[in-house]
Amino acid sequence: MARPPIEVIVLGTSSAAPTVRRGLSATTLIREGETILFDCGEGTQFRMLEAEIPRRKFHHIFISHLHGDHVFGLPGLISSLNLGQREYPLHLWGPRPLKKYIDFVTNWPRPTRIGFDIEVHEFAPGHEGLICEAPEWTVTSLPLDHTIPAMGYRFEEKELPGVFDGAKADALGVPFGPERKRLLRGESITLDDGAVIDPEALVGATRRGRAIAYCTDTAFCENAIRLTRDADLLLHESTYGDEFEEMAKDRKHSTIRQAATVAKEAGARHFVATHFSTRYEFPKLFRAMEKEGREVFPDLQMAHDLMRIEVYDREE
Ligand SMILES: [Zn+2]
Ligand SMILES: [Zn+2]
Repeated sequence: MARPPIEVIVLGTSSAAPTVRRGLSATTLIREGETILFDCGEGTQFRMLEAEIPRRKFHHIFISHLHGDHVFGLPGLISSLNLGQREYPLHLWGPRPLKKYIDFVTNWPRPTRIGFDIEVHEFAPGHEGLICEAPEWTVTSLPLDHTIPAMGYRFEEKELPGVFDGAKADALGVPFGPERKRLLRGESITLDDGAVIDPEALVGATRRGRAIAYCTDTAFCENAIRLTRDADLLLHESTYGDEFEEMAKDRKHSTIRQAATVAKEAGARHFVATHFSTRYEFPKLFRAMEKEGREVFPDLQMAHDLMRIEVYDREE
């Protein structure tokens, strides 16, 4: 049976500074009623309200790096969550010195009484691998190539077991109980009449989990491709167009063409470009940039604030 889509909502799409139409970096992912946030630029909590992002099951915020346009929304959001009588912990994940920053904002000018635990999981530069494992999904990280340590993330659902064909099991005379459990575990069973039933006859193939890669801020890098391998969706910073390729190199950002190349080389199903320099506010420049990206990845989408993307299971 098809699962409900994972909903990804891009809350802010501007690089470095906001514009009238664009807020700073933040993206939410909603899966089975659980909300996960990636980055928290200034103004994120307003955008969350505007987008009616649920906060009932909101346990994790993954921070890519500690530039202000990705973290200055944390103090306000934490403060509002505190007023909201929240009791369960909030897990913050990101590169060092995330803990120092959180300690500062929660202790200045005097210690704030926060009614829930803030658990900061910070990582040394260059850290790679699995960082967070929940019962149904994982987040892995690889270092990106930016002016300060930056972590790229891959959110991925765990594989689902294959579907059990109950009608066929009935027809074959497989009794209810431990025999069916054994088949689901991948073991063969022998019926009373001596017939051997292999699990492949009744249990469908395991179903792959959906994967979403989040890469910002970064120059074009191999790790972004590794993180995005066969992903259902890639969100990748696209700060500049071709004309600022040199600037992108100096400031360790990507052009949209480079970001689209990551999507293409990794075999991503969808690619959403985001984190645009404020100079691309004007429609003319913005459209030119979109065209450059489409030369590499024809189906790319240019993100706008509050854009919603639904990620469905792949048709097998
Ligand atoms: Zn940025
Ligand atoms: Zn940055």
